[in-house]
Amino acid sequence: MNLSDLLTGLKEKGLKLTPQRQQILRVLLAAEQPLSAKELGMLVNRRFPNVGLGTVYRTLDTLKQLGLVNETVFPGGGRRYELCREHRHHLVCLGCGRAVAFPFCPADCLAKIAAANPDFDVRGHSFAVFGYCGKCRKAQA
Ligand SMILES: [Zn+2]
Ligand SMILES: [Zn+2]
Repeated sequence: MNLSDLLTGLKEKGLKLTPQRQQILRVLLAAEQPLSAKELGMLVNRRFPNVGLGTVYRTLDTLKQLGLVNETVFPGGGRRYELCREHRHHLVCLGCGRAVAFPFCPADCLAKIAAANPDFDVRGHSFAVFGYCGKCRKAQA
């Protein structure tokens, strides 16, 4: 997925592509790690100093609704965002916030959930594993 594909897709979905929104997408596209809204805002502010955190949150909400952005919610309430490229999940470190992707789904678990809720039309899922990475564990020891 590149920026122009993404922008064309958004235009088709009727989203107004302001320069600020385009910059948010550019930053998300370039990011190798899921970003918090604050980090995202800071990176966007390098080129657009006037973009407030409110705009960042609103844009993330819109992108989330369109299924273009994936949100990981931390047990402590923090949230990180990344573009949905290929479908994948993450091991997320509670110490440093780093996320390592793994390319498979908790299929057994999803099948059980679907079987237990036959009325529910499942359209997607999110799943993350939280813990402490090797670096953070060493720092704690
Ligand atoms: Zn860590
Ligand atoms: Zn999955």
